[in-house]
Amino acid sequence: MRQVSIVEWGAPLAVRDVATPEPKGAEVLVRVEACGVCHSDVHIWDGYFDLGGGNKVKMADRGVGLPFTMGHEIVGHVKALGPDAAADAKAAGIEVGGKYVVYPWIGCGTCEPCKRDEELLCMAPRTLGTRRDGGYGDHVLVPHARYLVPYQGIGRELAATYTCSGITAYSALKKTKEKAKPSDFVMVIGAGGVGGSAVHMAKAVVGSKLMVADIDGAKRAHARQMGADETIDNSQPDAVQQVMAKSGGGVAAAIDFVGSPATMQFGIDSLRKGGKLVVVGLYGGGMSISPVMFPFKMMSIEGSYVGTLDDLKELIALVQSGKVPPIPLNTRPAAEATAALEDLKRGGKVLGRTVLQH
Ligand SMILES: [Zn+2]
Ligand SMILES: [Zn+2]
Repeated sequence: MRQVSIVEWGAPLAVRDVATPEPKGAEVLVRVEACGVCHSDVHIWDGYFDLGGGNKVKMADRGVGLPFTMGHEIVGHVKALGPDAAADAKAAGIEVGGKYVVYPWIGCGTCEPCKRDEELLCMAPRTLGTRRDGGYGDHVLVPHARYLVPYQGIGRELAATYTCSGITAYSALKKTKEKAKPSDFVMVIGAGGVGGSAVHMAKAVVGSKLMVADIDGAKRAHARQMGADETIDNSQPDAVQQVMAKSGGGVAAAIDFVGSPATMQFGIDSLRKGGKLVVVGLYGGGMSISPVMFPFKMMSIEGSYVGTLDDLKELIALVQSGKVPPIPLNTRPAAEATAALEDLKRGGKVLGRTVLQH
């Protein structure tokens, strides 16, 4: 099999021919057909996430050794079942040769959260493409057939993007539903990759009015085409006043798809009393916030990280029902992964998702 792998943190990826793994136990071997390039891949490639103030979460400290093969937005077909996988596969309706997207956010399978199907809370995850080799290789080992989801009626590359970008947007939008009534505004901050996905599905998932803040005029124009009721240029010094004027005193909920100190402050300042900020973006940095703001505004701040296996199944069904317009996609050969990452790292100008093809 061929893998496009990190051999040195931050250096160009290497194309390597290695032995194709044999599925053991309940594992399933998937022939990867395509894999999305996620913005978090840029951070993994660098080898760390920046927490601000000189603090970093290093991939090496999370137990990721080199060479490592990224890629967690995987679509492909089942090549082989492990010796103990047949019954599980049959129960899940999974067949050799069948085409599926792969849910990558896989826990250890044995801890209490995993047993309760809360794998995102697992302290020893086996995530494909961030902890285990992923879809920048043309084959991937999936621990169990239950992580494969059929996607009939959806384009292959588009379906791949739902396993991270899609469920990240979907799960964050779901977290605003308790606050946002149909006459309220939910604000999406940052309408790039994942935020752009959220703009596409916000009306179908939340059903309230949609405000979109982005510093890029092209992304604001696209958001209006996709049904945003209001757009804001949050690089303007009076951006918060504009939000207040357009929303009648603040938004019920905001989702920060950037995750920088500036966007988080903008999100907090834009909330009405009792509002909720959902933080999704991993831009990094640090900021201070007065504890008094929480009781004064009765606000809440919640972090949202990717989504559950059920979120993926719900989202695929929502897309199959025709309620979610597709996001723009660019496809490139897998061998161009380094160039695709560099384009993302330069930032801003990639509209929609890049998907690598094997
Ligand atoms: Zn991702
Ligand atoms: Zn676990």
